[in-house]
Amino acid sequence: MSNIERTLSIIKPDAVERNLDNEIKDIFKSQGFSILKEKKIQLEKFEAEKFYKIHETKPFYDDLCSYLASGPIVVMVLEKEDAVLGNRELMGATNPKEAKEGTIRKKYGISIDKNSVHGSDSLENAKIEIDFFFKD
Ligand code: UDP
Ligand code: MG
Repeated sequence: MSNIERTLSIIKPDAVERNLDNEIKDIFKSQGFSILKEKKIQLEKFEAEKFYKIHETKPFYDDLCSYLASGPIVVMVLEKEDAVLGNRELMGATNPKEAKEGTIRKKYGISIDKNSVHGSDSLENAKIEIDFFFKD
């Protein structure tokens, strides 16, 4: 049975700043993801805080939100069979030092905070995150 899903992907400021957005988009496309929607935006700090509210009690929360709002990002809705897990696998581990060969974070990530991409971690969160950026 086919299980087509949509997930939210963000190319984070460290990658956009290095002009890696087209290269990263090509990786998604070459792995069979359709980019249904995309936009390049810069968040206000309060918007980043809202997006990452799930992490509000973590010690890295404030730095994380400042960072996400520090420059332009590219936000995309990706679609594919089992897209949520597939995107997480293609991204690699949160810490680029632990990410497997062939993953986006292994290839482009600078550090655990500047790890180049975000991806929804569940189908439920994917829906919430897609609505956050693309609710008409
Ligand atoms: N993060 C960080 N320090 C940490 C853990 C996470 O700066 O010790 C940042 C990192 O950029 C990560 C984001 O917070 O991508 C969200 O953390 P999460 O655990 O959800 O990782 P992800 O789902 O992005 O792999
Ligand atoms: Mg996460």
